[in-house]
Amino acid sequence: VASIPARLRDERPSISFEFFPPKDDASEAQLWDALRRLERVRPAFVSVTYGAGGTTQDRTVRVTGRIADETSLTPLAHLTCVGASVRQLRQVVGHYAASGVRNILALRGDPPGNVRGEWTAHPEGLDHAEDLVRLVRGLGDFTIGVAAFPDVHPDSPDLDHDVEVLVRKADAGATFAITQMVFDADSYLRLRDRVAARRDLPVTPGLMPVTSFPQIQRMSELMGTPLPPQVVERLEAVKDDKVAVRAVGVEIATEIGRRMLAEGAPGLHFITMNRSTATLEVHEALGL
Ligand code: FAD
Repeated sequence: VASIPARLRDERPSISFEFFPPKDDASEAQLWDALRRLERVRPAFVSVTYGAGGTTQDRTVRVTGRIADETSLTPLAHLTCVGASVRQLRQVVGHYAASGVRNILALRGDPPGNVRGEWTAHPEGLDHAEDLVRLVRGLGDFTIGVAAFPDVHPDSPDLDHDVEVLVRKADAGATFAITQMVFDADSYLRLRDRVAARRDLPVTPGLMPVTSFPQIQRMSELMGTPLPPQVVERLEAVKDDKVAVRAVGVEIATEIGRRMLAEGAPGLHFITMNRSTATLEVHEALGL
């Protein structure tokens, strides 16, 4: 199986899916149902996010290991520096390696409970994602990805700084990047081109088919990803009709996805919210 960065350089757009760790048995069943349905379109990889607490982190490690073990899928495990000493981070990477996971998305993470709060590192931990890239690199033969922010990271002064940070992450050993969810294709393309001028680092856009208006408003606020006025307008016009919101959400994601692929994006990383239907509708509409 080709590595993730090799797949991202393929002629064919590389499709990938993101899940979050289930919080109980019922949501675990839902995750596996979505995963099995999405497995059929043969994604380049699937990723599982990493939460801030011990129990959710254990679940990420377990689910990612199960994906490596029981499916034909290539897992990408998210990992953050939040609340962890270097020793603990080494242990988690060791667990991933032991369960056959060789791809890690190295992130800083956000302070628990307050995403926009001020960052404080663990006293024996790491300060930036770049440091985690270096740590993981030193621990074995891992393929390492990092986060990118087309709308500029909320704590970052400007796009120049973000580009500089990505260059540093690439120099530390990252070989691909995935962006925060994109609602403005131009912002993605701007960042992609700025990075391409400096380093050979494929940057895959994150794409989220909106299925609920309040949910996307909350996420946009939390992540510091503004929703363009045209997007808000289209969703607001149908906000009292759940079925119509979903349809408009799929339509918007399809339009943005089509434009980014036409402009040479290496693929699309779908934020699935552990559901398959909307994602599969966009996938089909794009003729992938
Ligand atoms: P960093 O690269 O460390 O950047 C954080 C801030 O520090 C930025 O403002 C940056 O400009 C600045 N900075 C970085 N390096 C330096 C430096 N050397 N000197 C000065 N300033 C610097 N969060 C989770 O908790 N779990 C997840 O699973 C998760 N998955 C994600 C997946 C994707 C694709 C994306 C885009 C984000 C994800 N996040 C996740 C959110 C992410 O952890 C936060 O957005 C976090 O605030 C930034 O993480 P980072 O890895 O980009 O950090």
